[in-house]
Amino acid sequence: MEYEKRLAELKERIAQACARAGRDQDEVTIVGVTKYVGVEETKSLIEAGLRDLGENRIAVAAPKLEAIPEEFGVRWHFIGHLQTNKAKDVIGRFSLIHSVDRLSLAKEINKRAEVQGITVPCLVQVNVSGEDSKGGFAPEELIGFLTEAQAMKGLDLRGLMTMAPATDDAETVRPVFRGLRELRDNLLARGYLPAGSNELSMGMSGDFEVAIEEGATFVRIGSVLVKP
Ligand SMILES: *Cc1c(COP(=O)(O)O)cnc(C)c1O
Repeated sequence: MEYEKRLAELKERIAQACARAGRDQDEVTIVGVTKYVGVEETKSLIEAGLRDLGENRIAVAAPKLEAIPEEFGVRWHFIGHLQTNKAKDVIGRFSLIHSVDRLSLAKEINKRAEVQGITVPCLVQVNVSGEDSKGGFAPEELIGFLTEAQAMKGLDLRGLMTMAPATDDAETVRPVFRGLRELRDNLLARGYLPAGSNELSMGMSGDFEVAIEEGATFVRIGSVLVKP
């Protein structure tokens, strides 16, 4: 009940943000971030209606991936920093990697994908705000990276992701979200992102409404759904 109520409230806030931006609610996918909770709570979230779930560490995700049967139809999203030697544990098990943040990781994913004969859906993480603590490519590095990444047949590039600085006032991070959207539009128009790779993963519990107003297609929501 608790999760159903929280999910309903979240969807209502998303609907309002979409309405303000003149967007269709179907354009925004909620990725429920389950890193704070265990298997049972994760199952309750699924029962409440969520099918897209996000984890930022393979060790924390693994017990849930094992305990939750295929029939539940969960799409797992890898959203955290991915060590190169863990890439093999993620590809084929997660339906989207949001956090491709360096060339060496892209190369490793590509290599492993080719071995398995699959393509791996990925988003490119961009450090729009320029904070030292944030991972991702600097905007000016993207053209060079994407030129190499487009030649990697094991990568299925779907769009961009960013993390905004933590803030009490989401309005202050609007330029970060707008910046990611503008980068996507520019890179798509110039062919550095393949046609149709227009996903934008941006916005968390504290700032998702602003992210949606600026074009988010995935919001990664933990605390407001699962924290006590
Ligand atoms: C934990 C986490 C989130 C969710 O954050 P909340 O503020 O709890 O909603 C989103 N994205 C990433 C990459 C995370 O690690």
